[in-house]
Amino acid sequence: MAASRLSIGGVGSLPEGTPDDDGDHGRGSQEARIRAQQIQAITKYTPITLGANVINGLLIGYIVLPIAHPIALLAWLLTLYSIVGVGAWNQRSRLRTRGGASPRAIRRAILNGVIIGAVWATAPILWFPTSSPHAQLVVGTVVTGMICAGAFVLATVSQAAILYVVILTAGALAGLFLSDNPYAPLLSVMLIAYALVVIRSAQGTGSLFASQLRAEFSLRERGEVIELLLAEFEESASDWLFELGEDGMILKHSKRFAQVTGAGARFQTGASIFDFLSRESEAELKRLLARGSPFRNLIVDTEVDGRRRWWKLAAGPIAVEPDAPRRWRGVGSDITEEKTANDRVAFVARTDMLTGLSNREAFREAVADAARQTMRQIERDGSVMAFGCLDLDQFKNVNDALGHAAGDQLLRMVASELVLFGAEGVEIGRLGGDEFGLLFRSFETRETIAALASRIIAALSKTYEIDGERVTIGASVGLAYMGQDRESEDILIRNADLALYRAKHSGGGLVVAYDASMHAEVDARRRMQEDLALALARDELFLTYQPIVSLATRRTVGFEALLRWRRPYKGIVSPAVFIPVAERSDLIIPIGAWILRTACAAAMRWPQPLTISINVSAVQISRSAVGAEIRQALEESGLPPGRLVIEITESLFLKNEAPTTQFLQEMRALGISIALDDFGTGYSSLAYLSRLPIDKIKIDRAFVSGPASLEHRGAIIQAIIGMASGLGMSTTAEGVETEEGFAWLRSQGGDLAQGYLFARPMPAEEIPAFLEREDAPRRSL
Ligand code: C2E
Ligand code: CA
Ligand code: CA
Repeated sequence: MAASRLSIGGVGSLPEGTPDDDGDHGRGSQEARIRAQQIQAITKYTPITLGANVINGLLIGYIVLPIAHPIALLAWLLTLYSIVGVGAWNQRSRLRTRGGASPRAIRRAILNGVIIGAVWATAPILWFPTSSPHAQLVVGTVVTGMICAGAFVLATVSQAAILYVVILTAGALAGLFLSDNPYAPLLSVMLIAYALVVIRSAQGTGSLFASQLRAEFSLRERGEVIELLLAEFEESASDWLFELGEDGMILKHSKRFAQVTGAGARFQTGASIFDFLSRESEAELKRLLARGSPFRNLIVDTEVDGRRRWWKLAAGPIAVEPDAPRRWRGVGSDITEEKTANDRVAFVARTDMLTGLSNREAFREAVADAARQTMRQIERDGSVMAFGCLDLDQFKNVNDALGHAAGDQLLRMVASELVLFGAEGVEIGRLGGDEFGLLFRSFETRETIAALASRIIAALSKTYEIDGERVTIGASVGLAYMGQDRESEDILIRNADLALYRAKHSGGGLVVAYDASMHAEVDARRRMQEDLALALARDELFLTYQPIVSLATRRTVGFEALLRWRRPYKGIVSPAVFIPVAERSDLIIPIGAWILRTACAAAMRWPQPLTISINVSAVQISRSAVGAEIRQALEESGLPPGRLVIEITESLFLKNEAPTTQFLQEMRALGISIALDDFGTGYSSLAYLSRLPIDKIKIDRAFVSGPASLEHRGAIIQAIIGMASGLGMSTTAEGVETEEGFAWLRSQGGDLAQGYLFARPMPAEEIPAFLEREDAPRRSL
């Protein structure tokens, strides 16, 4: 029945205050039950009422016996006893069979009061006036007592009490009025006042009783609904109910508890829930219990029979006596399965699967968290935090040369080196590719962080062995210190990136800390790229040519084309500055094609058939149809392929060696020569180069006119020249600036030389005059 009521509308729609309800409809209703309680309160006194009526009736009979008509007295007593007796029996039997009482039952109770009142009222009317003063005292006392006692007993049905009092008082007043008692008027006033007080208090008692009952009922009603819901819940769900003391003692729990938790016999009433919880969970639960407000979704971890389990708890304090210790009732569920599944998902979502480190997302959160704490930390102990961005130097070469599997293996090796620094307080994450994140929380000074970052670089920079191949890499770190500026994690990451960029472009293997000037640099680079995109169309690019001379004859055998950019408002920009920008933005592709066409065409206008060396960037070879462009440049200009030299750098071979080799072989098949530029700055050995289709080696300027001692440089150059000639390659020494250098190179048996000693790069127009000057001394001889 209760269930159907629930489904109809729950507690709120229960009928309330329907006094005119018929008994049968009102049976289960609150009002009916209140009525039953009202009547029950009266019948509770039935034995006393009965006794009082019997004794008082006998007392009256005894006192008035001398003056009363015996028949009348007997009739009065019989009437009184039968009415009191029947009424009492009636009420009891009714209440025993019904949970509620109809309005009719209340009316019957009122009627009962009226009749008893009326019976008692006749006593003073019949016998008070003719009684002796002594007897009057007894009758008066008994009647007054009956007014009071009756009103008290009937108080819960206030109408019954009021009517009873009114009728009985009226009878008493009539008795006084008929008597010749000199105090009758005074007694009448007192009686009326007395009756009014009794009526008022009966009214008060009645309504208080009803309203208390109503409150109690509604509370019980709600309780029933809740019980019902809980019972249903108990049967269906895997959750359990519990009741705890404030001290964590288990006061009650569902049977299911032990079953679901696997806690078995150990988990029982009287045990403490804290005994099952981990220390952190215990502290957390204690904190919540102490706070005293309801909580939900508290996840605690427990250990039951050596197995770690996770419970989710919700509980609220339940109303108890004000001074009694608080009790908590709640629901728990075992979410171990759910949690392990979730954890696995979360783990996967937050972990870099290759290295097992935190992934970019998770690491970002760690940085954000640190950033939020910066100010507090600075205030607390003045310690410093920093975010570091670590990038491997030469990683791409390894990846390109040995393949992705080897690259992955290298990353794993690097990660395992990095995690060792966890012991020194560095948090490590992988940001993607060969970039790792370093989070330095709580270090004494910026210098300690920078020093630690340098040690990390030193630890990583070594030779690793992968599948029998030995590879050497280095690393660079960009640092962004967290400070007063409350940088967000995005800003920190960007700053560290800028610092990293600077570190890499300063040669790698460095720790560089961010400073605000780096922004200007980024902006400048962006603007340069925008301008460069327009440079070709605006005719701002032009080529200069630097002679390459024979060491033996000191005569020009060819020219190297070197690009220049006349940038508006900026003057002539060095290719060392803008070529990298062009390469990163792929602008090098159209620019490179233009260089090929322009240089070939220029060479055709020279007075002598000298060679033209053209620098071709690795980006051009890997991303454009550079072979076709070269053929086209030769065709358009009519330049014989034998006069063309293509200068490439070693890095090209580390990337896609096979297609590059194929491309170079095609070029050679056409008759074009291949020169390897900047030799000695790269990674490869001469032995490795012997497999490649290369005709010339250009020995980097660093070995020719660099800062190393002449002796040391000499040894290197001797070795290079020796090996190159052994491999059938010619050599060109770059950067020859002095006569001594020139003389020495010549003594070493090198082939060609290039440098400021002979000429700086010159515009195409100056070449005829330059060549003429070169010829002049001979002519003059
Ligand atoms: P690189 O190919 O090694 O070119 C030689 C560089 O050394 C040139 O600088 C040249 O001016 C400079 N140089 C020549 N003799 C001396 C000397 O005696 N002492 C000193 N200190 N320097 C000397 P430049 O023209 O500034 O070119 C720099 C680099 O830019 C070139 O190095 C090359 O890698 C790149 N580059 C220049 N032009 C082009 C081009 O047309 N295409 C491509 N892809 N790269 C180019
Ligand atoms: Ca070059
Ligand atoms: Ca060079």
